[in-house]
Amino acid sequence: MKKLLAIILAVAMLVSVALLPGCSGNKDSGNTADAGKKYVIYSDNAFAPFEFLDKKTDKYIGVDMDIMAAVAKDQGFEYEMHNEGFDASMGAVQSGQADAMIAGMTITDERKKTFDFSQAYFEDGQVLVAKPGSKVETFKDLKGKKVACKTSTVSGEYAESIKKKYGFEITYFEGSDTMYQAVVTGSADACIEDFSVIGWAIESENVKLKILTKPLNVKGYGFAVKKGSNSELLKKFDAGLKNIKKSGEYDEILKKYGY
Ligand code: GLN
Repeated sequence: MKKLLAIILAVAMLVSVALLPGCSGNKDSGNTADAGKKYVIYSDNAFAPFEFLDKKTDKYIGVDMDIMAAVAKDQGFEYEMHNEGFDASMGAVQSGQADAMIAGMTITDERKKTFDFSQAYFEDGQVLVAKPGSKVETFKDLKGKKVACKTSTVSGEYAESIKKKYGFEITYFEGSDTMYQAVVTGSADACIEDFSVIGWAIESENVKLKILTKPLNVKGYGFAVKKGSNSELLKKFDAGLKNIKKSGEYDEILKKYGY
């Protein structure tokens, strides 16, 4: 009888040890799992004022770059930034090559199926854009026309949803800069882009384009990790964002870029 009790106790102990959170085989469980880790963060490369190359210093600057640096400093973690483009960043996060991305990325329900997002740190929507003096003034003028969109963006998604209704064709570009050039040179009749970004290009980079509509589908921008992974990093980002908002550093960053 005593022997049986001892066996039962031993089995019970083994089972309870196996069920401890640290032994469950879940890579993303403990709070110290990432200690000392250098995170790999991906971003866009021509999406001013959020991320763009500063020709003077040959470094990427912008709202996202500054927010990332401020959050990492506040939370005491290291990271390396790879400015590779928007579609490339989405791919890098999904394949696990990147731990996260910050790229003026709109938080959508569709994307929530494959990404986990931080709290929103900015809000923007999309606008229709054409050359000044163009016959295209609204979506209704797009029948038989070519609309330039950027791969994997919400602008492209929106254009796809209305292209039949208005009878236009979509051509895709990897970067915002190449997309604008297509409209400037006339190989496309219009493009759709985030309001703040095209606004910056027109005002600060002298891109000869005109905004035709009010911002549509206004939503938050978020820092993103692959769904179900890097939850510790996501928590740190949210905590850091809260702190830099409280300290006024967040406001200073926006002010630096004209907000
Ligand atoms: N905000 C847009 C999106 O998330 C565009 C982002 C970008 O081009 N970097 O789709």
